[in-house]
Amino acid sequence: MSLKNRVALVTGSTSGIGLCIARAFAADGAHIMINGLGDPVAIETERAKIESDFGVKCLYSSADMTKPDQIVGMVKDCEAKLGALDVLVNNAGIQHVDPIENFPPASWDAIIAINLSAAFHAIRTAVPGMKARKWGRIINTASAHSKVASPFKSAYVTAKHGLNGLTKTVALEVATDGITANCISPGYVWTPLVEKQIPDTMKARNMTKEQVMHDVLLAAQPTKEFVTVDQVAALALFLTSDAACNITGANLSIDGGWTAE
Ligand code: NAD
Repeated sequence: MSLKNRVALVTGSTSGIGLCIARAFAADGAHIMINGLGDPVAIETERAKIESDFGVKCLYSSADMTKPDQIVGMVKDCEAKLGALDVLVNNAGIQHVDPIENFPPASWDAIIAINLSAAFHAIRTAVPGMKARKWGRIINTASAHSKVASPFKSAYVTAKHGLNGLTKTVALEVATDGITANCISPGYVWTPLVEKQIPDTMKARNMTKEQVMHDVLLAAQPTKEFVTVDQVAALALFLTSDAACNITGANLSIDGGWTAE
């Protein structure tokens, strides 16, 4: 168990990819802080289940990733209550699908805040502790959309490209401090985030649900399969290992070949 007695904070871990990463890290021995929105009873159930399934401590932070002061507070809380922050996964994300001329400015602002600026605020707060302990792992959930664009996703594509730039910059700044910073870039993973964009994509492209699934989503992936949350979590776990200490500043695709095209 390479994460035994390490502490990991995973933003946006009340569902989907983040929850699976949090559980994979806990299974490997890490104490965990989960974060995200949702039904308080369901969140408490997931938090308690991590503790009972894996025998680690698990705390929940309700910090809103659009609020810099709450992000700073979440990182400081993690360090104070769990003793450190060794592995930071910036994973919270939202999506909005609309042609540029109809794209609501409020959706643009929210996507840039949650998918990009939140990572900046969490990283700038977590790095001093990682430097002092001479060890750290920063993992940012980017996307195939950090490498290529798709129409109608202007804010998301912009935020994810920006997240890749932030990751590379931080990786260079902390390269001699025992800290790595990398992006994981999934293609389509079957989670609530993908499910929720189907109605808007149907509208924007005038398609049926089946057409969106096969002609838009899986059309992008040569393997014709959705990536699974377990596969993304396994890659994140590998990045925390000693074997991965020279992987830094990378943007690792897990996209069924999408960005090879
Ligand atoms: P999801 O909707 O299941 O999870 C998103 C998480 O972010 C949830 O826990 C949600 O509560 C949290 N969140 C949203 N707004 C927040 C806010 N203001 N403050 C705090 N938390 C907030 O989606 P997912 O598919 O698991 O997405 C996770 C990450 O993976 C995102 O960054 C997404 O862009 C990225 N991603 C997903 C896919 C995919 O196909 N599902 C592909 C590539 C990248």
